[in-house]
Amino acid sequence: MSKINSLNSARFELAAHRISQLLPDSGAEVAFAGRSNSGKSSALNALTNHTRLARTSKVPGRTQQIIFFSMTPEVRLVDLPGYGYAKVPEKLKIHWSKTIEEYLTTRNSLRGLIQTMDIRHPLRPQDVQLLDWCNHSGLRVRLLLTKADKLGGSRIRAAVEAVRKSLAEQPLVSVQAFSSTKGIGVVEARQCVLQWLNEDENAN
Ligand code: GDP
Repeated sequence: MSKINSLNSARFELAAHRISQLLPDSGAEVAFAGRSNSGKSSALNALTNHTRLARTSKVPGRTQQIIFFSMTPEVRLVDLPGYGYAKVPEKLKIHWSKTIEEYLTTRNSLRGLIQTMDIRHPLRPQDVQLLDWCNHSGLRVRLLLTKADKLGGSRIRAAVEAVRKSLAEQPLVSVQAFSSTKGIGVVEARQCVLQWLNEDENAN
């Protein structure tokens, strides 16, 4: 599989509502997940240097699809539906919860997960549940503590340390501060995604 050195060529490829509609499970992909309104779409846009690849929204809970963005036919980013938005009907919440769990625990081409959490409200119950699924299936996670621009330097460091400490038992999880508006941590997060995508198969 050819290596890539940037995520800038990411292009919309497919939107799926269920597992049977996903792109074929070959090659390499990195998925993005997070609570609705946690800054996931903004993070995807910052990492790919696009302004509107993933749709950001002031109305939470709107995009409920699994969206594939391809850099090459074999290398992709996957935007999972945001969770935790109260106004979504219960049946739909259950559908997405099951679908995301199945995706995270069965997808062979999945090299790692980028999970977004507002730095001011990290590790809510559904965030922790998602981390548990990843932990059980041996999937690496990079946690982006988003909207770090809302805090000052010492509070950013304290927030990152607190989350690291509570996840000390989960060696597959790494934590960093992130802000798409101020560019905090964008280079590090992009490097992480590129490294996962470019690893030889079976390296995980
Ligand atoms: P998503 O629902 O998780 O995809 O979140 P969005 O990317 O749509 O962002 C939700 C809201 O948070 C929007 O109003 C964004 O403008 C805002 N937002 C996203 N990232 C940042 C950030 O780094 N800093 C600040 N201050 N606001 C952000």
